[in-house]
Amino acid sequence: MPLYIVPTPIGNLADITFRAIEILKNADVIYAEDTRTSKKLLNHYSIKGRLESFHKHNEHIKLNSIMRKLEQKNNVAVISDAGTPGISDPGFLLVRESIVSGFQVFCLPGPTALIPAIIQSGFPTDRFVFEGFLPIKKGRKKRLEELANEQRTVILYESPHRILKSLKQFVQFFDESREISIVRELTKKFETQFRGSICKAIEFYEKNKPKGEFVICISSLKEN
Ligand code: SAM
Repeated sequence: MPLYIVPTPIGNLADITFRAIEILKNADVIYAEDTRTSKKLLNHYSIKGRLESFHKHNEHIKLNSIMRKLEQKNNVAVISDAGTPGISDPGFLLVRESIVSGFQVFCLPGPTALIPAIIQSGFPTDRFVFEGFLPIKKGRKKRLEELANEQRTVILYESPHRILKSLKQFVQFFDESREISIVRELTKKFETQFRGSICKAIEFYEKNKPKGEFVICISSLKEN
């Protein structure tokens, strides 16, 4: 049996594909980051599958038992709290282990925050780099130095607690010609977007306390 990686909504519960619902309905076991969070989604779509936890604190120790489930020809699906498993969420280790153990892996196309964020930014989409969350301490400066010369559109995930601090660092590291697009609460009731210079973004979030979930896109460094 293949392993199914199933994207789930990033806010709006309607953002799920018919196929995702079908796969989840047919699953013998659904591995979820937070079973209580996922229960709400599954109840909404009357999906009754057995839920088991699979999160960053137990992903290593769960690998063997998930491989056994696949060997025993169970239908196994993996979801995260929101979006696509493996994108700033557990998933990569499991996919790698499944491939090494000879199982097919199918990742369904579906919700993830980075794609609407870059499309809505209006920045070039032909080449981009997704950096996930920047390191908080170790390696952060080096990463910012690398991104200072980046010639592709940059996409970052960011928390509301750190966004102002990050923006202030961007001013120190990045050329002032670089523009920024910040989407907040994609697909949700209070979805908003900021576009402009990094300095203007700082002014904006100093006046409007950052709340919710954010994706930042930064335009590339223009070649001279
Ligand atoms: N697996 C998810 C995906 O495919 O996008 C990402 C999970 S990661 C733990 C959570 C981060 O994704 C948030 O801190 C935020 O940066 C971004 N994110 C997720 N949902 C979002 C939303 N509705 N609006 C804006 N950003 C979102």
